[in-house]
Amino acid sequence: MEQSFGIPGSSSFGSTEQMPVLFIGHGSPMNAIEENEFTEGWRLIGRTLPKPNAVLCVSAHWETRGTQVTAMEKPRTIHDFGGFPQELFEVQYPAPGSPDLAKETREIIHKAEVSLDERWGLDHGCWSVLKRMYPAADVPVIQLSLDYTRDAQFHYDLGKELSALRKKGILIIGSGNLVHNLRLVDWNRMYETGFGLDWAIEANEKMKKFILANEHKSLIDFRSQGKAFDLAIPTPEHFLPLLYVLGLKEENEKIELFNDKPVMGSLTMTSVKIG
Ligand code: ZN
Repeated sequence: MEQSFGIPGSSSFGSTEQMPVLFIGHGSPMNAIEENEFTEGWRLIGRTLPKPNAVLCVSAHWETRGTQVTAMEKPRTIHDFGGFPQELFEVQYPAPGSPDLAKETREIIHKAEVSLDERWGLDHGCWSVLKRMYPAADVPVIQLSLDYTRDAQFHYDLGKELSALRKKGILIIGSGNLVHNLRLVDWNRMYETGFGLDWAIEANEKMKKFILANEHKSLIDFRSQGKAFDLAIPTPEHFLPLLYVLGLKEENEKIELFNDKPVMGSLTMTSVKIG
């Protein structure tokens, strides 16, 4: 990574080819320690993308009032879940942070006053996936929070403002789930893949259709899409990271889907690569 020292307005990151953008369906935290077809999908995408200078992750699991970006040198691994085996609580993902990238991110965002955070770290929406993509933890990672006071259009527009980072070798990842209803999860089917309730499959298919047809407006208006969407998105935090990713799509960029399966009835792991 190129470094610069104290020159105001300068970038620490040299210019590169435009990096692809990812939306990752992260599912259960157990994906951090289990081997399955989804973790294999994450590993594969990590191997096939150009190695990034750094990662900026928008995770469903960091909601704040106002927009924040992690700015510490060494983000801690946050085990933000309960009721899972001890082994999962022992996982560490010691990727460095990037105070420089945090400052640069704050500068390029005009839609919001972004504050630099020194307390968060990496939550499981971020590290459970990155541990498979970059197991050596040698790529610096920052997280951008979801401002829970703002509407879907705001999140989509904020995503657009991150565009310049793609040409600096920054991999932007939105981590959530297209369909995510924990109340209706069938925990007895935790170790099988491909099981989805009718409404979950219906919503996921419709979302995919909108994504592939660039009908972003219909996804921003997810509350007007009927009952299947209401069940798929009971609260918006797992869906909103998708809007950051779609906001970054440029005309004529290729869209690929992977890990496109439901699990436990009411979640889908469907992931999107743009560019
Ligand atoms: Zn989650």
